[in-house]
Amino acid sequence: MPELPEVEVTIKELKPKLVGRSITRIDVRNPRLRFPIPSEIQEIAGASVESLERRAKYIYMRTDHGTAVVHLGMTGHLSVVPPEKEIGKHDHWDMLLSDGNILRYNDVRRFGALLWTKGDPAELAPLRDLGPEPLSDAFNPEYLEKALAKRVLAIKCALMDNRIVVGVGNIYANESLFRAGIDPRRESGSITAEECGRLVAVIKDVISEAIESGGSTIKDFYTPDGEPGYFAQKLEVYGRTGEPCVKCGTPIEAVRLGQRSTFFCPKCQK
Ligand SMILES: [Zn+2]
Repeated sequence: MPELPEVEVTIKELKPKLVGRSITRIDVRNPRLRFPIPSEIQEIAGASVESLERRAKYIYMRTDHGTAVVHLGMTGHLSVVPPEKEIGKHDHWDMLLSDGNILRYNDVRRFGALLWTKGDPAELAPLRDLGPEPLSDAFNPEYLEKALAKRVLAIKCALMDNRIVVGVGNIYANESLFRAGIDPRRESGSITAEECGRLVAVIKDVISEAIESGGSTIKDFYTPDGEPGYFAQKLEVYGRTGEPCVKCGTPIEAVRLGQRSTFFCPKCQK
């Protein structure tokens, strides 16, 4: 699943190919994504692309007609392709660009989204309740302590809850808790102020490192240029069941938490 760093990488690679171009037309071949693509998306025809920005795992494509909001879901992929490129079975929409190329959206599992608004995209229903960005100053130890105190769920599930902090997907939650030495199964309300401090610091590190290295190489993620991400090479606990802990040598254990694979060292994580 594309996580926050992969979305960041996608934006970085698409920016020079989209900003300053205009969109001559949109062809929606299959509107049945996670939310149906609204028919108002046709208002984008003739618009020029002003910027690409990220909020959580949503991509804002701001134009002079309004903002298109893209979510990659589980398997979504955006790329700019030449006009002669054959349309594949899972290529659900195309935006035709003024330079003749096509912005194409491919999504095998169709959990992604394409929304449209003339107002503030942060007011759209799926974005309204999002918590702070992990790399922003708003995500700090005092904030996290307050946010966790109100919840009765495992700390790992809390970190993956977009209303608490956005963009901490399964891989990054596993890696952050390992680095912070915190057992992922602990109840969120039991996390101390000192531990919140550690968690905030490692989450910022893990996310920044993943962005720098181009995202993780999990399943279907490739950058728009067809390069796999590289963070997988640095994973210390994710997917390492039975292998020795990099800190103490104890075999890594796995459990399911909130239906997601969870990996931890029973000795280092308390
Ligand atoms: Zn260990």
